[in-house]
Amino acid sequence: MPDSPPRALTETERRRFRVWRAILKASLALTWIGLAALGILLLVPGAPGYLRIAAGAVAGESFLTAVLLAALAKCPACGGSWGFVAGRLTPERCPSCGAALA
Ligand SMILES: [Zn+2]
Repeated sequence: MPDSPPRALTETERRRFRVWRAILKASLALTWIGLAALGILLLVPGAPGYLRIAAGAVAGESFLTAVLLAALAKCPACGGSWGFVAGRLTPERCPSCGAALA
């Protein structure tokens, strides 16, 4: 239904969606923080190896979490999935039911 007006989410659906997106954004942020920490630690001579491993682990795990969350993304209104959206965390509208997600 590409031409129908987007259906508004209910309060519960919107809250659930916001929580999901907040976790996804936090995971992505943590990935960048881990990568930045790893980069700094690699530039610092004599930085302990376990710190580099820890930073790498944080970056890797949070990245995996983000990928998993994005891959398991579901429309809060109809439960349909939309897969990966290039350049965005979520599509503006659910491709299945047309609910506004932005
Ligand atoms: Zn939907």
